[in-house]
Amino acid sequence: MRWERYRDGMHPGDYDVADIAQASETGRVPADARIDDLLDSAYRRALTHREGTVADYIPILGRADPEAFGVSVVDVDGGIHSVGDTATRFSIQSISKAFVYALLCEAVGHTDAYRIVGVNNTGAPFNSVVAIELNGGHPGNPMVNAGAIATTALIPGGSAAEKWDAVHAGLSRFAGRALDVDDEVYRSESETNQRNRAIATLLQSYDRIRCDPLEAVDVYTRQCSLLVDARDLAVMGATLADGGVNPVTGERVVSAEVARDTLAVMAASGLYERSGEWLFEIGMPGKSGVAGGLVTIAPGKVGIGAYAPPLDSAGNSVRGQIATAYLSRALGLNIFASASHA
Ligand code: GLU
Repeated sequence: MRWERYRDGMHPGDYDVADIAQASETGRVPADARIDDLLDSAYRRALTHREGTVADYIPILGRADPEAFGVSVVDVDGGIHSVGDTATRFSIQSISKAFVYALLCEAVGHTDAYRIVGVNNTGAPFNSVVAIELNGGHPGNPMVNAGAIATTALIPGGSAAEKWDAVHAGLSRFAGRALDVDDEVYRSESETNQRNRAIATLLQSYDRIRCDPLEAVDVYTRQCSLLVDARDLAVMGATLADGGVNPVTGERVVSAEVARDTLAVMAASGLYERSGEWLFEIGMPGKSGVAGGLVTIAPGKVGIGAYAPPLDSAGNSVRGQIATAYLSRALGLNIFASASHA
């Protein structure tokens, strides 16, 4: 089953929130009880949407419950707010790309990460080979498969096992707990990821991957198979919202500069080819994954984690987007919104 199938699918187009007034940006989130109320409204509103298709180009993902739906908000003080199925685990998939990129920035620095992996939206689907060719072999950005595999390949380590240890430990620090690999997802994707292997080998031909490209794909496939729930995603997002410090464990995971750089790249390309629409409607950096996860960050305020498997035609969780759009407006999280100073 090819990804192209979903590109002919539904287009939610509107995010069903145009009627919600944009709350003023105050630099603070409202009190806990207000967050709980608004989270509940966001959940109920998104629940009425049944559009979208569960991904099955990785066969095992097709078994996900299309009704599963949960949203968590974690604030930079470590306060946790949850509604729905926020303890249901699913594979992190592409959302791992943002956090592994943060680990790479931490390891090699701003300039090298920019130079080698890039920061611009390709405008092409996440698994495009054509985009690599059109860019003269440059992977484009870390949120598409080419850039993500190049990112994982660049993680310091003398062997694939050492790179994996660094990726696994780093993502676990973001979540504040030791994450497990879903072996079934890992096997299912390993048997069907010929396209990612082709992408990695193509990047090697352009000297963009210098380690064994198939080993890099294997580490990447493992990282995509890590199990998280919506609450984990919210904690991971809140770590980027909190200048790189996990607000639940208190551990610094990356520097404030790395958190900033990661959010910039997420804003430019975190929602596949819909990244512009997403910024226009939601106004925050985010990253989605094909298992139905979505993480969104209001810098200095909160991380939002959502899980709902049916996806729009670009690969973004439909209910996750609608609930997040609601929270963006109702909580005043849009980073572009301001009221007149006077
Ligand atoms: N592991 C998936 C792939 O490489 C991730 C895709 C995604 O979530 O966008 O195809």
